[in-house]
Amino acid sequence: MLDYHLHLWPHGQRDTAPTLDQVAAYCERADAHGVTEIALTEHLFRFREADALLRGFWDDEPVAALRASMGRYWDEHAHAELDAYVECALAAKAAGLPVVLGLEVDYYRGRMEDVATLLAGYPFDVLLGSVHWIGTWRFDDLDDPASMEEWSVRSVDDAWSDYVTAVEELAASGTCDVLAHPDLIKVTGHRPVAPEECWDRLVEATVSSGMAAELSSAGWRKPAAEAYPAPGLLAKFVAGGVPLTTASDAHRLSDVADRSSDLAGLLDALGVETLRAFSDRAPRDVAIDKGVRLP
Ligand SMILES: [Zn+2]
Ligand SMILES: [Zn+2]
Repeated sequence: MLDYHLHLWPHGQRDTAPTLDQVAAYCERADAHGVTEIALTEHLFRFREADALLRGFWDDEPVAALRASMGRYWDEHAHAELDAYVECALAAKAAGLPVVLGLEVDYYRGRMEDVATLLAGYPFDVLLGSVHWIGTWRFDDLDDPASMEEWSVRSVDDAWSDYVTAVEELAASGTCDVLAHPDLIKVTGHRPVAPEECWDRLVEATVSSGMAAELSSAGWRKPAAEAYPAPGLLAKFVAGGVPLTTASDAHRLSDVADRSSDLAGLLDALGVETLRAFSDRAPRDVAIDKGVRLP
């Protein structure tokens, strides 16, 4: 198994310089849970380089509460040094740890060429593409009252369709390698009566872009109370031939490799025998080790 979605800092915690010891501890816990390779994928918006490039993308948001909320969120997060993060991951690789260097990249409408140009200057192995917000609405920020209030203003069908449109645009930009938490829009538990049309559009977006899709245990830790993607969507990804990664989306050591055995069970039930890994942005397939005994 892989854990191809890991953060070094919890939201709300000011960054500290990442250390080799921290990465080694992540690897040790991963190994104990049957995970043979991890990807460090900190949020792009945690770094000053993103601040310099993207600050103010929320300025034309017409809803004042959302505009102010995004400004505060950005100010809380954009403080780390991308060079220090990259150097730490490279040092871990050089020390022989089973780590690849990644980043979780949000969708910024009309700005993805600028983002790609920034990221091309670093030796990333894998880039995750994510949609955490629609325009500036952080639909998944359970701790933000202004964001959660929007769920009572918008229809669930519109929210889902707008989310999928953002994913389609992100995929078409060609910026990233893996679609992270593909149906994150369900995070609060709001689901359309018939999600199949949205699911089909998500599968088509990954197929046409060549992206892999992520199977993540993080949804089990949220009100959605199921993995991302939903079982029906996962089956469609597999039927569509979309390569898969597995992930915990941990923001702390105790969640690294969370429920990897449950993810393995979902894949086994669908006959999936390989996962997609990446080196230097190039894909490579790794066999799922059926021999490993998971706790
Ligand atoms: Zn995410
Ligand atoms: Zn994440």
